[in-house]
Amino acid sequence: MPRVLMIGIDSLAPTLLSELQADLPTFSQLRRQSPPLRLTSIFPIDSIPAWATIFTGLNPAKHGLIYSFDVFEANWGAISKIDSSVFRGRTFWDYAGQGGKKVCILFPLLAYPAWPVNGVMLSRSLTGAGDAWPRRILDEQNLSRFETLSGRHPGRRRLLEYAQRAEKITEKEAAIASTILSRHEWDLAFVFFGYLDIIQHFFWRYFDPSDPTYPGPTPFQNVIREFYILLDRIVGELVNLHPDSIVVVFSDHGHGMRPPRTVNINECLREAGLLCSRNGVVNPAPYLLENIKRVVLDFIHRFELDHWMLEVSRRGILSSVTKSLYMSRATIDMERTVACLSSFAGPKSYPYGGVEIIRENLKKRGMEYEEVRSRVIHLLSQLKEPETGRPLVEWACRREDLYSGSYLDLYPDVLFELREGYGVYWGIHTPLIGTAYEHNLAPGGHRKEAVFLLSNAGRPVSRYEMTLEDIAPTVLDLLGLEGDWHFDGCSILI
Ligand SMILES: [Zn+2]
Repeated sequence: MPRVLMIGIDSLAPTLLSELQADLPTFSQLRRQSPPLRLTSIFPIDSIPAWATIFTGLNPAKHGLIYSFDVFEANWGAISKIDSSVFRGRTFWDYAGQGGKKVCILFPLLAYPAWPVNGVMLSRSLTGAGDAWPRRILDEQNLSRFETLSGRHPGRRRLLEYAQRAEKITEKEAAIASTILSRHEWDLAFVFFGYLDIIQHFFWRYFDPSDPTYPGPTPFQNVIREFYILLDRIVGELVNLHPDSIVVVFSDHGHGMRPPRTVNINECLREAGLLCSRNGVVNPAPYLLENIKRVVLDFIHRFELDHWMLEVSRRGILSSVTKSLYMSRATIDMERTVACLSSFAGPKSYPYGGVEIIRENLKKRGMEYEEVRSRVIHLLSQLKEPETGRPLVEWACRREDLYSGSYLDLYPDVLFELREGYGVYWGIHTPLIGTAYEHNLAPGGHRKEAVFLLSNAGRPVSRYEMTLEDIAPTVLDLLGLEGDWHFDGCSILI
């Protein structure tokens, strides 16, 4: 039976593999060898739910890890508490090990601490603590701690230094991977690289001349390209060390420009009478607050002071203030509101989002749950881009129309995705279309198109469309294993 070498790269974008192909000999060769597979990410398009789906073959409503990283680290408390027990024993490498295959699993996101596997598992916590099965791997590699970088914006003066450190850490991880994969026997190896995502988030506007905040040539303009070149070299070295292996190079989602414009979903809900403002004759404060907020954010955006705002927030004095500037509900009357924008995807101005129905207020207002939900879906589908009259919402549906699972209620009641170029925003008493204030801070954003390059499989595929849920069953199929694993996806091989 052949061996399978999997290299998972967070946020590796199919669009950039194509755009930068002249600089990427290894990726380009793998693309020529692979069937033209189109891998689509999950909803919401975020690293934590995406990797948990890749590991388990389950949709997020079944594994329940629906968290997102964001520049304010709004969810950091909860994320830092996630431990590997949620998928221990339920990952594709556990099933491979139970099927008698030797595994070698290196740095899988969130899978910390390591647990007993049939082979080697080397884990790193989000804060850099190392753990391994068996423990002696840490001593062999002299690795009690890993060097890590925070996902917070480092401030513009330290941006280049940040990129250089990310490169150094990635090279170091590649060297560890290369040593361990040579020293140990394996049928299935998986190596994870995580820093490309954050590099694209921070540097997108310096790289992409079509970004409205592209400043012209700067010392930052080649950082993303160079990171792709570095990964191309690393992948090439790992593949060349194991030339007989089946190779899978893949990502959890792609990357592109974060939408520069926003749709003020809460304002639409307010106009429809589903969201109530605290504004009134007696108390004009909410209206004023929304406007002051907009003036502050416009100013910060215009003068590119976002990094300064984060510098201050990093010191903890203003962190709650800055976050609430973006997504505050202070101006919403939560006693009477029956539908408002959910914060489940974080303060991100991403194209996807959800609307929460406030069940406890339905009775007071004489409304029924399903009636409100249908009204919200209808309302979203009627939103039009002012200049062109084109729909602003690609799709909107009830959460159970997308997924099923015991964690489905972690999703908001209505889910939707906006037209390309638009992200969600929380503003009320503001025009329908606004500016994405977060764009300067993290101008890159996740895209649902991910990478799946398969080479040397020796077997044809039955289809070219696949989702993240299909990865675990496909890998086990490549290893020649069969089992009753209850995945949400299925193998793409004939
Ligand atoms: Zn990711």
